[in-house]
This record gives sequence, structure tokens and C-alpha cells, in this order.
Amino acid sequence: MKKIITLIIAAAMLLGCAALAGCGKTEEKVLNVYTNAGFAPYEYLDENGKVVGVDIDVVNYIGEKLGYKVVINDIEFNAILNEVSKDKFAVGAAGMSKKPDRDEVALASEVYATSIQYIIAPKGTFEGEKVALADAVAYAAAASVKSIGVQKGTTGADLVAGGIEGTDAKVIEYSNAIIASNDIGSTVCAVVIDKMPAEAICKDKDNLQCWSLDAEMESYVMYFNKDNAELVASVNTILKKMISDGLIDQYTVKHSS
Ligand code: GLN
Repeated sequence: MKKIITLIIAAAMLLGCAALAGCGKTEEKVLNVYTNAGFAPYEYLDENGKVVGVDIDVVNYIGEKLGYKVVINDIEFNAILNEVSKDKFAVGAAGMSKKPDRDEVALASEVYATSIQYIIAPKGTFEGEKVALADAVAYAAAASVKSIGVQKGTTGADLVAGGIEGTDAKVIEYSNAIIASNDIGSTVCAVVIDKMPAEAICKDKDNLQCWSLDAEMESYVMYFNKDNAELVASVNTILKKMISDGLIDQYTVKHSS
């Protein structure tokens, strides 16, 4: 009788293992990374169409340290936080500026970079290096094409929307700033996007120039699922070390050259 019971238990355990399909092995942990690959040097497509960039190097480094397989998902920028809210092991790594409405739906990591909004326009449009938002808006309002292009759901989109209120200038929202810049001279007169992506676009286009807007500095964070404070704490320890070791600076130089 005892033998039979032992056999039944053994058989049940075997069946249970088969059902789990991972018996004996520790299950692979997956970190789902959401990004938008039109934002060089932080995330962009290389010549083989692979998503690469500073943020990708950072999440890969973190994944390796914490034992996660990193899966990169290239989606619309304004859909990132919604995806993060649905999955405990998800992170938005997309040069995301820390802001209160985002802090309500996701957990921010340590700040790993800073930035400021830039305006891209035809060469010689503005004088000097810095442009006041009011001057940028006045330029758009007086232009034959009165729209400023922005990336949907970004801090740049918020800034322009606030600036054009009560003027003749308009805004057009795009999937990313690269597509928006291709329309400068046809459907938009300028594009507003973060500093480094703006510089990357201007480097590629002889007819365009970029200027810093006279705006507030922004802080880049990674946004994690609200229910995973434990993961954020582990990530922050690694991020702080990466910053003090100069690793993030190294990645930035690598992806900007
Ligand atoms: N830093 C900006 C924001 O968080 C833009 C980010 C992006 O376009 N990837 O809104």
C-alpha cells in the first residue's frame, strides 16, 4: 500500500513538472523594455534595422546584472506607459522626462541624464544660440506654413501646445521627430524635440539647424511598473554605479559619433 502511494505521488510530481514545462530549471526572467526607436542617440535603428542606443545599452547592462533576459519592444512613444502599467516586469526606456502625471502611473528610476527642448528649423531662421519660446511661436505664426511639428505625447508637445495658445501658430503631432523634420518646409515650419535627438537630425540634414529653446531642464528616468518597487530599488543601485563609473557617458559618446 505504502509503495503504491509513493508511486502515485511520484507520478503526480512528474505530471506536474511536465505541465510547468520548466521543471528542474529555474524559469528565465524576462524584462520587457518599451521604447520608440526614433530618438538618437538614446534609441534608434542601426543599418540592420536593429534597435540600438544609450537606453538599450543601459537596460542590457542592468538585465545582465540582475539575471533578466531583455526583450526590446519598439512602439509609439505615447503608448509606452500604458504597456508598462499592464506588466509587472516592464520598463519604459525612451529618454523619458520625469514629470508628475507620469509619476502617478509608473515608478521612476534614478535620473540618468538631463536634457532641454530644441527647435529645428531651416538654416539661419534664428539668430544666436538660444531662442525664447515666444519668438519661436511668433516665427511660426508669421510663416506661410504655421505649424510646428512635435512628437506625440512628449514634453516638447506639451511645451509647444502651451506656447501657441492664443496665437495663429498651430501644432502637428507626429510619431517621431525624424518624420516630422522631413516635413519642414512642406507641412511644418519647425520641429521641437529634445536636444540630442535634434542635434542628430541636424547632423544628417544640410538645410536644417537647431537651437536650444529657453526652456526648463528635463531629467531622464526609466519608468517601471507601479507594483515593482523592489526591481526599481535594484535597478537604482546599478544605475548610480553606472553613472559614477562614467558608463552612461561612454554609451552616449559611442552612440553620438
Ligand atoms: N523627453 C521627452 C519626453 O519624455 C521625449 C522623449 C522621446 O521622445 N522619446 O517626453
